Amino acid sequence: MDLHEETIQGLHAKLASREVSSEEVTRHFLDRISSLNQELNAYITVAAEEALAQAREADGRLAKGDAESPLCGVPIAIKDNMNTRGVRTTCASRMLEHFVPPFDATVVGKLREAGAVFLGKTNMDEFAMGSSTEHSLFGPCRNPHDHGRVTGGSSGGSACAVAANLCVAATGSDTGGSIRQPASYCGVVGMKPTYGRVSRFGLVAFASSLDQIGPIAKDVTDCSLLLQALSGYDPRDSTSVDAPVPDFASFLTGDVRGLRMGIPKEYFVEGMDAEVEEAVRKAIRVLEEAGAVPVEISLPHSAYGIPVYYLIATAEASSNLARYDGVKYGFRAKGASDSLRQMYCRTRSEGFGTEVKRRIMLGTYALSSGYYDAYYRKAQQVRTLIRRDFMEAFDRCDVIVTPTVPSPAFPIGEKTGDPLQMYLLDIFTTTVNLAGLPGLSIPCGTTSGGLPVGMQILGRHFDEGTVLKTAFAFEKQTLSTNRLQA
Ligand code: GLN
Repeated sequence: MDLHEETIQGLHAKLASREVSSEEVTRHFLDRISSLNQELNAYITVAAEEALAQAREADGRLAKGDAESPLCGVPIAIKDNMNTRGVRTTCASRMLEHFVPPFDATVVGKLREAGAVFLGKTNMDEFAMGSSTEHSLFGPCRNPHDHGRVTGGSSGGSACAVAANLCVAATGSDTGGSIRQPASYCGVVGMKPTYGRVSRFGLVAFASSLDQIGPIAKDVTDCSLLLQALSGYDPRDSTSVDAPVPDFASFLTGDVRGLRMGIPKEYFVEGMDAEVEEAVRKAIRVLEEAGAVPVEISLPHSAYGIPVYYLIATAEASSNLARYDGVKYGFRAKGASDSLRQMYCRTRSEGFGTEVKRRIMLGTYALSSGYYDAYYRKAQQVRTLIRRDFMEAFDRCDVIVTPTVPSPAFPIGEKTGDPLQMYLLDIFTTTVNLAGLPGLSIPCGTTSGGLPVGMQILGRHFDEGTVLKTAFAFEKQTLSTNRLQA
């Protein structure tokens, strides 16, 4: 197997036994990035020198026999909305194009301590607003399975980098689907943990009550290893929860006998792509054959997910993005010295892209006096109902299984002119953020055109373990089938 095809687990074994050095592996990835990134556009910034320095440091640790951390010496990628000390963090926006943070996000600090090597910062939709990685100052990212199609978004660069073997694994952030949807489009595993499981400190805020950081990886084992490294209480994030973090790997038994798997009828909607539906239904049968028990459930408020999400997310975004005023840091429009008001106005007009401006305007409207009760408050009330649906469903099942996205990756440019069409793609993912639940997307088949299809697995709050257990059992089952066919 080529080095770049290795998983965290596989590479860790080679690094720990000193079969390869981290520096060698890092150089190998940097060479691959040099030859492929121009076309794919997965990375906004490649931090070659920093990566090599980290690799040498990891080699020092490994030489001393310090091989406890599975990430030590493993080259990974970081989404460009997570602050990295000394390496620019752009959020794919002109507003932060030259911003070099003086500090690490908590997750970045944790990964650094674990000995991971940061190859660079991945492409995304500006401020994580989008479902395609086309709304990026640096241009669209391309789907490795079909370069004419999108990767999904907003963590498209991370999903692409993992799928195209331009890193071993990557971080993503998910506010309404931004880890799961690109994972589904690119054929990799991506997980949004429970809200509060992973610190958001140093993650550039989009919608603070929904944002959550999580892993994107080649398989379920790697996903759980990376989740382990990211998880844990952080006093610097007031919404981080001080709950024990289990050993996620201990859930990867492959045994799902008796596991009750809820199938929500509202998630198999008319109009969804037939091949997607077929792939997911087939995957459900695979789990059934492994001993899981399907239970039909209903999540009656699902249809409100998109409007509620797009009200709450834009309202929070309009408030979070007020800080980009040209004064404290980031972009300031040139020659705007007539008045403070003019400086604000020109800075924000020139610094933000179209989609971000659309969201700020929508959110400001939803929060303005006279409309607050009709829109924002109402959305919060319906959010409670959506959450309650899930709580009731989890009385009857242990996990919920759905498609991740209703259709496979679409051609670049197809939906940029029609924001509503783009928003509708988030129909199966946004409710999960509104309820704060953990959710994972795992590849479960391909369309006749060779495009990956993802299955979404949801769990109870702080029960990532059972989600990973289910995903692992599915992966094991399908891998052995594949092997039998080979
Ligand atoms: N696609 C959704 C949006 O555009 C979700 C984005 C995300 O999860 N960051 O808001």
